[in-house]
Amino acid sequence: MADKKPIPILMERLARILLNDSHAGGLKPTQWEALRYLSRANRFSRSPGAVTAYLGVTKGTVSQTLSALERKGLITKATDQADRRGVQINLTRQGAKMLQHDPAISIETATRQMTAIDRAQLSASLEGVVLRLLRDRGGRPFGACKTCRHFKKSAPKGAPHFCTLLGEPLTASDSQAICVEQENAA
Ligand code: SF4
Repeated sequence: MADKKPIPILMERLARILLNDSHAGGLKPTQWEALRYLSRANRFSRSPGAVTAYLGVTKGTVSQTLSALERKGLITKATDQADRRGVQINLTRQGAKMLQHDPAISIETATRQMTAIDRAQLSASLEGVVLRLLRDRGGRPFGACKTCRHFKKSAPKGAPHFCTLLGEPLTASDSQAICVEQENAA
């Protein structure tokens, strides 16, 4: 009889492997998570509030995490041009370089032994589980911009795309980024 391992147990073991690996490079697991998020988030989503919503931790933890990353020269904080009371966080070149040594890459590498179809199915299934759990808890999906109901392909200001919610032009790379305001089109 096949040994069918319960999915929560497998996820718990995977999470433990990642957690144990995530003390690399002099960073803590939450600092790695914040760096990963900032490398994927669009310009409307790189605020302390958006990082807090994405990580699902307290404001105090995010504040300490961002201060530590800034001290290490991995991020910069600047006044948000669109909202002068707000702060926009950006990865530095050093921060982007640090992500080349991201401990999570070992999980990605382990999945390369699967076929492309199996990898795509696993990714879609895991995403479905995450979205359901977030929805039940009132969390935001943080999906890719191009899947958002406010995403329009034609732009009046020269960019290839446009956000009808924020009234802003979007570049091709913006369309791939994740967003705090994203709402699934389907
Ligand atoms: S289209 Fe949606 S995901 Fe893209 S920037 Fe606008 S609100 Fe964010």
